[in-house]
Amino acid sequence: MPFDKVVAYVNANVDIGGYAGIQTVQNPNDISVLLNKNFALPPGWAPNDLVPVGEGWQLRAEAAEQFNALKTAAGEMGLTFFVRSGYRSHWSQTASYNAIVQAGGRATADIQVARPGHSEHQLGLALDLAHRAGTTGPLSTMGFSGTREYEWLVENGHEYGFILRYPRGYTEIHGFVYEPWHWRYVGVEIASAMHTERIATYEEYYGRYLNPKVIAANMLQPNRSVVYFNGAATAFEAYSKDGGNYFKLRDLAFALNSTNKRFAVFYNDDANSITLIRGLPYTAQGGEMARGDGRARIAAPAELRIFLDGTETGFTVYSIGGSIFIKLRDLMKAIDVYVGYDTATKAITIDTSRGYEEVLL
Ligand SMILES: [Zn+2]
Repeated sequence: MPFDKVVAYVNANVDIGGYAGIQTVQNPNDISVLLNKNFALPPGWAPNDLVPVGEGWQLRAEAAEQFNALKTAAGEMGLTFFVRSGYRSHWSQTASYNAIVQAGGRATADIQVARPGHSEHQLGLALDLAHRAGTTGPLSTMGFSGTREYEWLVENGHEYGFILRYPRGYTEIHGFVYEPWHWRYVGVEIASAMHTERIATYEEYYGRYLNPKVIAANMLQPNRSVVYFNGAATAFEAYSKDGGNYFKLRDLAFALNSTNKRFAVFYNDDANSITLIRGLPYTAQGGEMARGDGRARIAAPAELRIFLDGTETGFTVYSIGGSIFIKLRDLMKAIDVYVGYDTATKAITIDTSRGYEEVLL
């Protein structure tokens, strides 16, 4: 199992098993809250902004608004969604769970329905969607996976903030049987990131990006310094952490390409490594020197080896939004380029006509 996956599992408590070491969530009102067998709602908590979403069910207002937008967009494609379940109270979740325990025993119930306090239906952020055979047939959640509606949701649900919460083949992580009908609202940003990065479960996303410990360790602040590159003020997307400045590797390669300090960048996906070769021209990939949006980012420490002219480096790197950010001084020292910082003007100077100098503190 890849190391970053192990970290994600451990961070989300997936490794300790279902209904073990249960923690009460501190952010039940957040759209992004993780609720599962290891994370429970505070006793007595209930959402206070429920609105109708059809067939007599309710969701929290933001989720309902996005579901309505989704229905409108899908409706133009001739697709129809029926809601089979939405918000369920603690009482109603208790009744659902107990009914299955009585019918099939506790073990069976525990992979089919969440215990009260652990259900996303209590958050008012989950929908069970159903298929209706013909125009008058009964609503069926089981039949939903084979429908065009389901296929459309898998491709487009993220644009409205919805994720398939219990995908097939991940029971050991999310704890339940495959539930093609159960869709969770997590917001457009998170749902889209999971789609782009192909993260299958919310536990993995949480473990990598939302766990408070992970956030504290990997939060990078936007760097607001003016950067003078060979004398010209130049906009780079850059971040700061622990006194270091992190620049996008491709931006630096692009900027240095017109100088005698140029280097080429070769990606090797199989070996999870990048090779930099000095003296060779950099081939632009498109998107270099794009401006950041000025927001802080949670970066994943990149499990990546970087080689310079065939020798492995110890560069500190982070992965942000799929791009590699590298510690400016690590790289500039290695290729012998001057980096200066003016504390009065908070300006960073990069000068390829001078050699690297250590900072004297
Ligand atoms: Zn459900």
